[in-house]
Amino acid sequence: MEPVSRWAENFRWGGVSVLAYKENGTHFKSITRQVVFEGDPELPCQWRYFEVEEGGYSTLERHEHLHVVMIIRGEGRCLVGDRVHDVRCFDVVRVPALTWHQFQPVSGEILGFLCLVNVERDRPQLPDADALAALRAVPAVAAFIKT
Ligand code: MN
Repeated sequence: MEPVSRWAENFRWGGVSVLAYKENGTHFKSITRQVVFEGDPELPCQWRYFEVEEGGYSTLERHEHLHVVMIIRGEGRCLVGDRVHDVRCFDVVRVPALTWHQFQPVSGEILGFLCLVNVERDRPQLPDADALAALRAVPAVAAFIKT
């Protein structure tokens, strides 16, 4: 890979493919993925850029691995645990282990964010009926989440 992956306008980078968010699954909507940094044995993490269109959402999920997210396009809202936060460009969001999370753009916006993860990571878990009921016990969370 070239040392510089050139910004190619409109949140695309030279040599970086625009991929489906996940290879399969139905618990998300209108979201793409670009792997900006694939990981290296000496730096075993990946830097992904996700973009969520108006009306879309990332999977409501949790896992053992951590995320550090930086918003770099648009405005949105995110669930982290049992709270919903407003986020905008250059805000940094830390998602701890085993913490429910979901990202959505606000009306009229595309939400784009970089997400840092370990290369070695566990598979995300989806909420079962009990977990959904627990999440929905918080009114602001109930009003926010999409599945
Ligand atoms: Mn996640």
